[in-house]
Amino acid sequence: MAKAKSEAKAKKKVGAKSDAEKHARRAVIDTALAMSRSGLSPGRSGNVSCRWNGGMLITPSGMEYETLKPRDIVFISAKGVLAGKSLRKPSSEWRFHLAAYNARPDMNAVVHAHSLNATVLACVHKSIPAFHYMVAVAGGKDIPLVPYDTFGTDELAAHVAAGLAQRNACLMANHGQIAIGKDLCSALELAHEVEVLAEQYAKALALGEPHILSDEEMTRVLERFKTYGQRAQNM
Ligand code: 13P
Ligand code: ZN
Repeated sequence: MAKAKSEAKAKKKVGAKSDAEKHARRAVIDTALAMSRSGLSPGRSGNVSCRWNGGMLITPSGMEYETLKPRDIVFISAKGVLAGKSLRKPSSEWRFHLAAYNARPDMNAVVHAHSLNATVLACVHKSIPAFHYMVAVAGGKDIPLVPYDTFGTDELAAHVAAGLAQRNACLMANHGQIAIGKDLCSALELAHEVEVLAEQYAKALALGEPHILSDEEMTRVLERFKTYGQRAQNM
């Protein structure tokens, strides 16, 4: 009874948010729900964040995505501390989310998923080479694999920051994948792209030795990517 009362009181305290913040909290939930409902990350695995007010808004640790309310999303300052009143414990991976933002000032959203095929490759410690030109979607000539470390640790955060310094996505050994973007939609879209590439690469590996595109060819692909789609008027 006393616990229910104090939780209700806490909910009231954390409830006073600007419309913009409510919108951002909702967007984090919608992205986490889309990740979960599409089957990209099983059960309660994975986490989502976006930059907010010099820090970030991040999903809570270990909660069922379908139950999330805007007040469950946690604000963490740039210094890595829970600023203000927070109803929930933040994702155990808040350190690598913060490390990703510090490594990439040009990015505003992070999606981490235990997607099936990316995780399969990460468990045999394989990165994704240029077996298909689309690996350029992550911003480089391959999708790297960062070394294993225990979830939630500063050590894992350091590996992730190094992996994302030159790429917008990487695999995490014995764990999963992480993708970043200018906004939540792009980060989630990239996480899906990485999963598709991981599935294609794993299947190609099962049939034989995939042919890897040359360094020069990937330089051409990356150049063409700059004007691909609606990014420029030239055809
Ligand atoms: P959280 O529920 O604490 O975000 O953990 C999920 C996860 O994927 C850990 O790497
Ligand atoms: Zn994880």
